[in-house]
This record gives sequence, structure tokens and C-alpha cells, in this order.
Amino acid sequence: MYQDTIAAISTPLGEGGIGIVRLSGKDALSIAKTVFRGKLSHRRLNYGHIIDPDQGEVVDEVLVSYMAAPHTYTREDVVEINCHGGPLPLQRTLQLVLRYGARLANPGEFTLRAFLNGRIDLAQAESVLSIVSARTEASLRLAVQGLEGRLSAAVRAVRSQVMSALAYLTARIDFPEDEIEPQDIVQPLSKALQSLHGLIATADAGIVYRQGVRTAIVGRPNVGKSSLLNRLLRQDRSIVTAIPGTTRDTIEEVVNLKGVPFLLVDTAGIIRSRDLVESLGVERSRKAIEQADLVLLVIDLSQPITDADREIMELLGNKKTALVAANKCDLPQQAEPEGLGWEVVHTSALTGEGLAQLEERMVDLALGGRIFVSDGLMVQNVRQKEALERAGRNLSQALSGTASSMPDDFITIDLTAAASALGEITGETVQDDLLEAIFSNFCVGK
Ligand code: GDP
Repeated sequence: MYQDTIAAISTPLGEGGIGIVRLSGKDALSIAKTVFRGKLSHRRLNYGHIIDPDQGEVVDEVLVSYMAAPHTYTREDVVEINCHGGPLPLQRTLQLVLRYGARLANPGEFTLRAFLNGRIDLAQAESVLSIVSARTEASLRLAVQGLEGRLSAAVRAVRSQVMSALAYLTARIDFPEDEIEPQDIVQPLSKALQSLHGLIATADAGIVYRQGVRTAIVGRPNVGKSSLLNRLLRQDRSIVTAIPGTTRDTIEEVVNLKGVPFLLVDTAGIIRSRDLVESLGVERSRKAIEQADLVLLVIDLSQPITDADREIMELLGNKKTALVAANKCDLPQQAEPEGLGWEVVHTSALTGEGLAQLEERMVDLALGGRIFVSDGLMVQNVRQKEALERAGRNLSQALSGTASSMPDDFITIDLTAAASALGEITGETVQDDLLEAIFSNFCVGK
């Protein structure tokens, strides 16, 4: 258990109906009692006021809940103070609890404590992050299943097979004279490797659902990029959010196509500013293309291909995951985009023709024939995938070592490495700096 008590504002910044200051740790209750005037009962929503004890001044009218360890998010004592949702009451309440003994929480530190106190494992903690940032229902469903621990269970099953082979080989090494019952390790290890490959096969699709597909819509001015973007957004009947893009002047619109979140990077505005500062437009398109997982190149089918079109195609280079939207197909055709080297879909942002096909091809390209399993057993991030692949390599090596009758201690080296890689996923064998890197992606207060 930790000695210090952490606190943070756990709701988004800005004005809202309510905002929550959360405390976790052994002094959570006593700190709360110092600044709260009212009765504070366990597992109740207690009405009262936050008071600055020095000045006796009322800071806010609040509802406070107190949940005693260990049945809490962090497994520690947790107090949540529901303030009025303005930045000022929240900040002042936070400052008060900090003054009376709490420490400001680091990003993800509540979840980190849940992990370190053994309530959830690392893969589950990462699912918390995925739940918070889920942009489509399919992404959310996968993340929730991750939190339920399905991936962890599969990884643990593989790891325990590795461990039992390791135990057997170690015994043979340590007690060479003793009679150790011969045991077949090849069959269980082959089975373990097979399950590993099955998990790895889900990873790319899992990552796509988890992180979304960054999509750049590029093309010269007036080919219909904005119109297509609007079409794609309008098609989306679920939540559409605008989030600031990676570059200062771009906006990423998240659109849900068949459950896959696409982060559409709107370069339409960018290219339009071309006549003002021409080089800037090209430079930004280049950046958008560089960062994109998928590029949607829009051309005007009703006009012959121009030098400006070619200039943008050059930016594309040999980027494989690109799709040409040959737009304005409602007009008489002048261009011949079929020989350009990319897959072409004829669209009309005006009539909506070809839009369904465009979406379908976008989803197919994004998933790239990757396996999507709906039962929740999906690897969700690059870190997990990398660890699984490492475990797979070590395990193959151990198996081929066995096949070529390598000495036991060589094989145990590979098996130990495999077990350790698998342990990184659930957090059994994880290094502190890795933990720090993972949790720094969380928001403060989570
Ligand atoms: P952008 O500069 O590439 O973003 O192009 P816009 O979306 O602003 O469209 C430029 C012009 O082409 C506008 O007048 C649109 O109404 C028109 N436009 C866009 N898509 C189509 C289409 O599929 N068919 C026709 N006929 N006109 C279109």
C-alpha cells in the first residue's frame, strides 16, 4: 500500500453541470473531513459544504462520497467530491485537499494503483484507457471485453504452459541423477505457439479498432474533397466529434464506418490556401500523407488529369494504402484514372453515387484482410502485439532447439524469455519505465 494520498480533478476541464475531485489513499477520509462540513458516511452521497478551514469561507456546496478500501477502483480509500462544474470551485477544492496532505496525482495514477494493488492486470488497465478513448461502439465493446480480462486469460494460459515446460527442464538440469519422469514438452509448447499465433493474427485489426485509421483526404482544389468529407460525415449516424489535429491547422473528424473509427484529416482547407502560400499547402499535404494510415486521393473525373493532380500523386509516392476517389462521376467523364496504379472508386459527392462502395473499400483497406473476432479476444495495442511476437519467436526457437536435441539449458533460456515477454502483457514481469510510459498516456484523474 502507498503511503501518500493522491488527488485530482477527474472530470474534463471547462464548465459543466458537476465536476469531481477524487482522492485515493489512506488519508483520503481524514483530508476530506478537514475540508468538508457535513456528515460523511460510508457509501452514501453526503450533502454539505467545502470550507477553507483557515478562513472559514465556504468554497462550494457539494455532494461527497466515501468508499472504504478495498472495494474501490484503486483498492484504497476513495473520496469523491462532486462540486459545481466550474473551473474555479474545482480548482479551489483541489488546492484545499492538496494543502491538507494530498499529492497531485500523475496521469493515470488512480488506474496505476488499481494495477499495482492487484485489482486489475496491465492489459486490463490498458483497456481502461481504450474505454475512455473509444470512438465507436465496436471499439468500446472490445475495450470493455479487454477490461473483463479475456485477453489476459488467454495470455496466462499460454504462459502457464511455457512455465510448466520450464519447470520440467529446470528439474532435469538441477537433478540430473534423479529419476525425473520423462515428459513431452513439444506437444504443449506447439499448442501454446499456435494460440500465440492466433492472438497475433487479431492484433492488427484490434489496433485499428482501438486507435482508428488516420485518413488524409488529399487532392487539388475544387475536386470535391470537402464535399466528400461532408458526405462521409453525414453518412455517419452516430457520434461525430471534432478533435484538434496533429498539426495546428488541421481538424480531425472522427467518422464511424462499419464500427471502424476513421480519423479524417481535413486537408481541404489546407490545399485551398495554396494560392496564398503555395509551398505551405504542398508541405502540409505531404505531412498529412506521411502521418496517414490511409490516403484518399480525390480527383475530378469530369476533367483531364492536370499537373496539380500529378503533383499531389507524386507526394503519395508508393504509399500502398491509398484509394482514388474519382469524383464528379455524375458529369461526363474526361479523366482516365484507372492506369494510375491505385484502386479507383467512382463517386459523386453531389448525388451520393459510389459513396457506399467508397466506404466499404475504406474499411476493407483499413482492416487489410485482417482478422476481426467479435468475442473480444483481441490484442489492442502495438505494445501487446510486439510482446506476443517476441514470445512467439522465443517459443519457436525453443521448439526447434528441442527438435535438434539442444542441451536443456539452451532451451530454458528461450522459454524464460518467452515467459517474460508474455508476463509483460499482463504486467507480471514489467519494468517500471514501461509502466510509466503506458500510464503517461492516461489523463490526469483517471
Ligand atoms: P475541394 O476544394 O476539393 O474541397 O472541393 P469542394 O468540395 O469545395 O467542391 C468544389 C466544387 O465542386 C463545389 O462547387 C462542389 O459543389 C462541386 N462538387 C463537388 N463534388 C461534386 C460532384 O461529385 N459532382 C458535381 N457535379 N459537383 C461536385
